[in-house]
Amino acid sequence: MTSALNSTVHQRGAASPAPRRKRLSTTERLALLERENATCHLCKGIIQPGQAWDVSHEIPLELGGADDDENRKAAHRKCHRVHTAAVDLPTIAKAKRNYAKHRGAAVSRQPMRGGRRDALKKRMDGTVVLRATGKPWKPASSPSSSVAYHAEASPAFPPHQAPPPRPERKPEGDGDEGASERGQS
Ligand SMILES: [Zn+2]
Repeated sequence: MTSALNSTVHQRGAASPAPRRKRLSTTERLALLERENATCHLCKGIIQPGQAWDVSHEIPLELGGADDDENRKAAHRKCHRVHTAAVDLPTIAKAKRNYAKHRGAAVSRQPMRGGRRDALKKRMDGTVVLRATGKPWKPASSPSSSVAYHAEASPAFPPHQAPPPRPERKPEGDGDEGASERGQS
């Protein structure tokens, strides 16, 4: 039961080759071209005799599209390659990233400071504690420590201190701007 699911997931893995597709015979390719009225499904233009064309999957196999007549379309080879590189591959890559994230395989290399994956947390009163024990945290002596940032940040922004007030705009400045605008018009 789960083995079938696992094999499907494994086939969709990044290291695995793309899903298998049937190689159409000449007769099948000709039938496809006539069924599609020799129209490229990407640019909607006619595939002229002598123009190279590919069997294109409207929904890429990597995104769950079926390798069947309903999903098979005809496309100019030029259109097909551009579309694959510009649309399909980025979409497939994103789907893989999302899936890895969904399954918890993707872990950020830079956990948010003070976030749930950080070793430290900052309390509402501004004190920094070790997340695991809840004991007060003391700045590490070695600057290479991963938590040295807190030692640098704490003196710069002590808790409950308002930022320095902004310099107020002088009313003369507004007047000058208005004067210059009047001068231009
Ligand atoms: Zn085309």
